[in-house]
Amino acid sequence: MGQAHLHEILESLIDQHRSAYTEGEVASYIPELKKGNPALAGIAVWGPDGLVAAGDTQVPFTLQSISKIITLMVVLEQRGEAEVFSRVGPEPTGDPFNSILKLEISERRPLNPMINAGAIAVCSLLIGNTVEERFAHVTSLLAEILGREVFIDEQVYQSEKATGHRNRALAYFLKDTGVLEGDVEEVVDLYFRQCSILVTCEELARIGFFLATKGVALTGKRLLPPSIVRLVTTFMVTCGMYNASGEFAIKAGIPAKSGVAGGILAAVPGQFGIGTFGPALDSKGNSVVGFRILCDLSRRLDLSIF
Ligand code: GLN
Repeated sequence: MGQAHLHEILESLIDQHRSAYTEGEVASYIPELKKGNPALAGIAVWGPDGLVAAGDTQVPFTLQSISKIITLMVVLEQRGEAEVFSRVGPEPTGDPFNSILKLEISERRPLNPMINAGAIAVCSLLIGNTVEERFAHVTSLLAEILGREVFIDEQVYQSEKATGHRNRALAYFLKDTGVLEGDVEEVVDLYFRQCSILVTCEELARIGFFLATKGVALTGKRLLPPSIVRLVTTFMVTCGMYNASGEFAIKAGIPAKSGVAGGILAAVPGQFGIGTFGPALDSKGNSVVGFRILCDLSRRLDLSIF
């Protein structure tokens, strides 16, 4: 398909689905996120022929939970699968992303690295002597993928740091059960920093393309072994859309990871990286507009991997 035809399709998806934002709400539990404009909507697709985009694809927003896949890739490379999976499991939960429920009633490890408890456990495995040094491993991988320096949104970071009591509770629980080692406050600080990394919708597509090509940057440089990317994209299918992952697998069938600032990063293996943006969220914390656009795009272009 030509780029012009794809562009037409993306424009029509934005026209058709933008108004669905009225069915969702901007996240408010992190006070700074309340400032997001719910009416924004964008989709960007990176393929072998480059970028095609429609709508609000250059507005910066924070990665939030999408950052979980970046840190997971770093930690898998630093520590290896065996050590990572001694701390976090491979199973979907069916619970909301910030749930504490299963930590006590199932096995001690968080069930997977895409829920907050699991992502916090993954953060605790980052190697380094200081928070700055450990965080730098996350930003430098992302900087190589994006071809630019990486920054955080200081306001969002401070806002979550001041109010993220549930995440602190998860972390202290994990400290108690021996899953999390080291200083709890430092680990949650790392987690809040990674959630506050700024990206645009176009850049999400670029990260998606990195996953779609199994770990090769646009420069042609291999940044990670394909086995790590395969593992992470598998988690995106089973847990990337929180407790709507099953519905999304049926309707779109594309590995994807969403974040509460309204981004969704998707990767069609061997073909495309896709980014969507729309800050109004449904009750499960996924962008209403992004969810619909991806399902519709998948149907129109027959992108389901199943
Ligand atoms: N920073 C957010 C939190 O921990 C990320 C959650 C998300 O995007 N689902 O609550």
